[in-house]
Amino acid sequence: MAKKILLPIDLNTTDLNAAILREALRLLEDGGELLLVTVLPDYGLPMVSDQFERSRTERTQQAVRKALAEWIADNVPRGVNTQTHVLVGTVYDQIIRAATRLGADLIVIGAHRPELSDYLLGSNAARVVRHARQSVYVVRAAPAA
Ligand code: ADP
Repeated sequence: MAKKILLPIDLNTTDLNAAILREALRLLEDGGELLLVTVLPDYGLPMVSDQFERSRTERTQQAVRKALAEWIADNVPRGVNTQTHVLVGTVYDQIIRAATRLGADLIVIGAHRPELSDYLLGSNAARVVRHARQSVYVVRAAPAA
């Protein structure tokens, strides 16, 4: 059981997010908190830091924040404490940093996009497992056929 669970949510993978949430709710202590984090990848491009790109990124961040809030309203049971964070940068790096900064004691992450069924662990999930300071629980949407 954990008090503060960080859930990295990729808004493109609905079924997997439902499975991640289900496991996190099972592992959350009474009165605990879910930290829902979505990262907008910047692909390490320096141009993302220029003026024009920055205002575009901020607009995208707002739209993603809204989509994440809607997903939470539709999926997280009322009464569960949540925080949401929409971050910009390299996906695995932002997840690892956020876990420490926000005081998470567990990360519950999806294994990989369902369509990439040959992979046992996606590139972000693998790096989070390898480098996070917290325990990491990896969720597979469905058992392999
Ligand atoms: P794949 O390479 O198959 O896309 P990933 O390792 O990127 O696999 O994704 C596995 C998990 O990592 C997702 O289920 C999600 O929990 C997390 N993740 C991936 N992309 C993001 C993102 N942009 N923001 C937050 N979490 C993400």
